[in-house]
Amino acid sequence: MSEEKKEDLDLTEDQGGETLHSDEKKENPVSAPKEDRPDEYEEVCSVCRRPESKAGKLIHMPGGLMICNDCMQKAFDMFNQQGGMNGLNLQNMPFDLKMIDLNNLGGVEIPQKQKVKKKKPKEEGEKPSFTVKDIPAPHRLKAMLDEYVVGQEKAKKTLAVAVYNHYKRIASDMGDGVEIEKSNVLMIGPTGSGKTYLVRTLAKLLKVPLAIADATSLTEAGYIGDDIESVLSKLLAAAENDVDRAEHGIVFIDEIDKIAKKKNTNTRDVSGESVQQELLKMLEGTKMEVPVGSGSKNAMVPMTTMDTRNILFICGGAFPDLEDIIKERLNQQSAIGFRALLKDQYDQDKNILSKVQMEDLRKFGMIPEFLGRLPIVVTLETLTKEFLVKILREPKNAILKQYEKLLAMDEVQLIFDDGALEVIADRAMEKGTGARALRAILEEYMLDIMYEIPKDSNIGRVTITREYLENTGGPRIELRGQIVV
Ligand code: ADP
Repeated sequence: MSEEKKEDLDLTEDQGGETLHSDEKKENPVSAPKEDRPDEYEEVCSVCRRPESKAGKLIHMPGGLMICNDCMQKAFDMFNQQGGMNGLNLQNMPFDLKMIDLNNLGGVEIPQKQKVKKKKPKEEGEKPSFTVKDIPAPHRLKAMLDEYVVGQEKAKKTLAVAVYNHYKRIASDMGDGVEIEKSNVLMIGPTGSGKTYLVRTLAKLLKVPLAIADATSLTEAGYIGDDIESVLSKLLAAAENDVDRAEHGIVFIDEIDKIAKKKNTNTRDVSGESVQQELLKMLEGTKMEVPVGSGSKNAMVPMTTMDTRNILFICGGAFPDLEDIIKERLNQQSAIGFRALLKDQYDQDKNILSKVQMEDLRKFGMIPEFLGRLPIVVTLETLTKEFLVKILREPKNAILKQYEKLLAMDEVQLIFDDGALEVIADRAMEKGTGARALRAILEEYMLDIMYEIPKDSNIGRVTITREYLENTGGPRIELRGQIVV
């Protein structure tokens, strides 16, 4: 396999807690993950489930039981209140003591995924985990993104600069009083235009942990739904429970437009404005109590503290109807004075989203404090047919290349003619879900080819034609001896 191929990123995983690429184990420009050894994880108190870093030194008991000082003290207090050994009444014990099965002390083992990794003690004069030199400069980042993401030039450039500045800000924490402000990002673009894909690619290139969360499932604390801390739990899981790594990661909150202020409601808006309010502190940078190995807080889940100051938050959404709000503002402005002639010209403007301003987003239902914490606004274009054809063919891990590779293993060359690519792009345009539809459409067309071709070992080349996809003809098949190069 060539060097270039080895560098390919696997970007096909599902959303959610990201798994890490095996390359990350080798070398990491931002922060290197440590090896997975049980002694790298913190011990957890078997009663209150706090890790050693929070509960203090744990007392090891027979049978693998570990108890922190607080819980031990509580037990003694209770014991004394009951009148010592003679008056001991297990029925009146605090609930957490009753939970310990005294006959089976070894059975309270805490699962590995709920243990956090131990923090490395900071040594005098120790170098920071990464330096400015490790972070690719914006033009290099953009060039790397170009290999995977088609079009969206402005978005790639803005993101490359934002990410570069973000990590530079962390690396240059010199204590000289000049604090560079955090550069969280708001991404606005139609569905399937590559918002998630851009962030995913960036995180892979930088080799930092990434969590992708969905704002629709978030609700105000105490209501049914996920608390905002669940977002950080995902990041921690993506960093293999290494708090230090997670604190330098990226969080992508998708569907952020769904937490816009609800209009005309008489009930409490627990999934809209109040979620925006709760996110404020997290976006800005604060210490938060985060459940480890689970999205929800409860008595049985260990908690750890995470500092969100150096986490890059990228919020994305399609913001339907935002175009109308922008048009209305622009038309109102141009209706005054000599610019009245320009009125209605915006109706034809395909790139109207790029003219978005804070006041439009406020009108949409985002609160000013929330917008203030996302100072960089990136807009993505609707993908045209030409871009969809390019997406099929050009990126480093383009879908067509994947099929070509699959058939090449049977020593069959696969070719798509231009007409066929147009048919696929047209069908994707009809679906209105951007590039997301491409794979499903292609899978459908390719099923028969992938089934039939390996049957006949004489076949050397298959050309997928427009006629085949439109059901008016078949694919062009050439046998091994007939192929003219
Ligand atoms: P959304 O904007 O809704 O988050 P996604 O990023 O999930 O869209 O895009 C869906 C899929 O479409 C991606 O996994 C990627 O394969 C493909 N895709 C979208 N936009 C692009 C693009 N500009 N270049 C290359 N592939 C893209």
